[in-house]
Amino acid sequence: MPYDVTLIPGDGTGPEITEATRRVLEATGVQFTWHVHQAGLEVFEKQGTVLPDEVIESIKQTKVGLKGPITTPVGKGFRSANVALRKSLDLYANLRPAKSYPGLRSRYENVNLIIVRENTEDLYAGIEYQKGSPEMAELLDFIHRTTNAHLSEESAISIKFISVPASRRIVKFAFEYARANNRKKVTAVHKANIMKFSDGLFLAVAQEVAKDYPDIQFEDRIVDNMCMQLVQKPELYDVLVLPNLYGDILSDLSAGLIGGLGVAPGANIGAEYAVFEPVHGSAPKYAGQNKVNPMAMMFSGVLMLRHLGEKEAANRLENAMAAVIAEGKSVTYDLKPRPDDPTAVGTSQVADAIIAKLKAI
Ligand code: NAD
Repeated sequence: MPYDVTLIPGDGTGPEITEATRRVLEATGVQFTWHVHQAGLEVFEKQGTVLPDEVIESIKQTKVGLKGPITTPVGKGFRSANVALRKSLDLYANLRPAKSYPGLRSRYENVNLIIVRENTEDLYAGIEYQKGSPEMAELLDFIHRTTNAHLSEESAISIKFISVPASRRIVKFAFEYARANNRKKVTAVHKANIMKFSDGLFLAVAQEVAKDYPDIQFEDRIVDNMCMQLVQKPELYDVLVLPNLYGDILSDLSAGLIGGLGVAPGANIGAEYAVFEPVHGSAPKYAGQNKVNPMAMMFSGVLMLRHLGEKEAANRLENAMAAVIAEGKSVTYDLKPRPDDPTAVGTSQVADAIIAKLKAI
């Protein structure tokens, strides 16, 4: 039986990398029925929304989505389709592996990190008060009355909120992932020494949940120290679990440890649905040029195959990609020693090379 998967090509370079990814996934021999739905800028211009209801409805039926990046123009006043998708489907866990492969240009070897980022709360929940607004004046007054702090009227405020249920389910997710994938250690990352209530709560919940997993080592790190440790000795870390903002920043840092955004995959997972997508954005300046690296989306496809239970096909695709990376021939500009290397190939040629390897393996 083919797997039903909602396919969202996205915009900018999204459609090119989506097509390349679809081809390599099909070349594994696993069968898919693709439910193709558009979201993003062009849809907004035609339908007045970046995320039509039919996209959500489709994922509710198929349970699984594979998504290209979507542009969120700065200052045009509509919500990010990505944030809306995560919220509508309650995709509370953002999984971002960072794994070294021989041939990737990086200062590090043997990095094999799993970043588990909380996806629904923290400073990213979009609860903000604008400078000079009546609500802001009320808030400044409330803060003065309850803490005696006098904040400047020329301020803006974003709310950082962290709850027990959301912290519990993300930390549980990290431990369950560790157990299911033979990982040895979970590190909770926070700044509880300064933000005693919000990050303190996250840490306390993490310590509580850790007691249910005596087979997995648990430790915590303060986020600034964690950044230094990752840059100095990333091989000491395994699964990291973090509130939303730290998770976003550290996953880009980790992508930098393994050779950049062109190879960094991601997954947004909830209790019922999962959407797989690269960490990078739509790189609009390269749209339509058959130039950017499709591997981040292809590695997201590998995560999707594992999620579907197709472990053997996932391993074969990962091995074929690793072989193409190791050869360093049929790779895009970002994986060459210099970005203007004339031997760099295009997006679709990377797919051709991986398909050839899949046939040879
Ligand atoms: P970006 O990731 O699109 O691109 C930044 C730079 O990284 C590019 O100019 C390019 O040099 C490089 N790069 C990115 N992907 C690459 C690839 N596959 N191969 C080779 N090089 C690659 O980030 P940005 O320019 O900040 O964002 C562009 C748009 O994408 C924005 O509108 C942003 O909101 C959106 N975005 C969407 C998602 C998503 O859909 N999940 C995620 C991040 C950003």
